[in-house]
Amino acid sequence: MRNNPYPLLLTPGPLTTAPETRAAMQRDFGSRDEAFIALTRRVRERLTTLARGADSHVSVPLQGSGTYAVEATLGTLLDRSRKTLVLVNGAYGKRIERLCRLIGAPTTIYETAEDVPPDPAELGQRLRADPSVADVILVHCETTSGILNPLESIASVVAAEGRGLIVDAMSSFGAIPIDLRRTPIDALIASSNKCLEAVPGLGFAVIRRARLEASAGKCHSLSLDLHAQWQGFETNGQWRFTPPTHVLAALDAALDGLDREGGVAGRFARYRENCQILIRGLGSLGARALLPETLQAPIIVTFRMPSDTAFQFEKFYAALGQRGYLIYPGKLTGVDSFRVGCIGHVHAADMAGFVDAARDVMRTLRIKSLAP
Ligand SMILES: *Cc1c(COP(=O)(O)O)cnc(C)c1O
Repeated sequence: MRNNPYPLLLTPGPLTTAPETRAAMQRDFGSRDEAFIALTRRVRERLTTLARGADSHVSVPLQGSGTYAVEATLGTLLDRSRKTLVLVNGAYGKRIERLCRLIGAPTTIYETAEDVPPDPAELGQRLRADPSVADVILVHCETTSGILNPLESIASVVAAEGRGLIVDAMSSFGAIPIDLRRTPIDALIASSNKCLEAVPGLGFAVIRRARLEASAGKCHSLSLDLHAQWQGFETNGQWRFTPPTHVLAALDAALDGLDREGGVAGRFARYRENCQILIRGLGSLGARALLPETLQAPIIVTFRMPSDTAFQFEKFYAALGQRGYLIYPGKLTGVDSFRVGCIGHVHAADMAGFVDAARDVMRTLRIKSLAP
């Protein structure tokens, strides 16, 4: 049993946060406070710098969860008179396709199976065959399965064909290196409560300044207009509408934690170790991950549903919950599965504790093996 009175969240977000991050929310800020204006400026700069985009990009935070930031970015940037090509291999890619259609952007998709990344060469052919495609949208880590899509090679194909690239980096930003100086991306979208390990309530996009400047007045929505949001920050440093003050303070503290850990490289190393302990540990109990190691991002692992008739996900979930660990149901369309996250303020000893708890639950529920 763990010491922490609250369950450890082995989920894709909200995540377990560090005590320092939660402590940062003890202070109230007024939205027009000098201190809050400075906090907003600091966090915006830190996000742009984290993506290595200080010379070319600006960051625009937005109230709400990650999907709000995705919808806002698409609504603000997409050209409704040209086509958008969405790379789909999971539920988040599908959601982006739906958002594109909702905002009235002509949309086409290049879909692969949930355990297959898009092929950059095939994408290049599709782009050459269809000059009306203005933008490509990629989900970096498709959290549905945990697959890591090939951002760098997709980005170079898209740039070579002279199109724009928008990346949903929701579940990778902060843990998997992204360098806007080397990787041509017009907009990178993420949120506070995944690999940045802050609390939920804020999404943001890091957008190429020139593209954002050219997008004035295009958005269909008042509250989701990132050009207007950005203009607000640039003119008086303030948010246009009530800001998530405590969330921003927590994010600033969480970014301190990321720095202390050695930045993105340090966080990546910890998550990779978490992921290895998880896959080896549950593997020793028979469980099999959906993805081969080469495609697996160290973010969340999808396990095939065990075939032992004693295994019932609801019971397994509840018994793990009683022992202090919350896991996640599967989200694949084809294969029955469950998921376990590796991200958040979670360390090697926590993952080992989780594996022990799973072993104990198996004994209690008389599950012989987690083999599919
Ligand atoms: C979490 C996530 C989102 C946003 O989901 P919200 O529930 O709105 O925070 C978008 N894309 C990906 C890949 C995600 O993992």
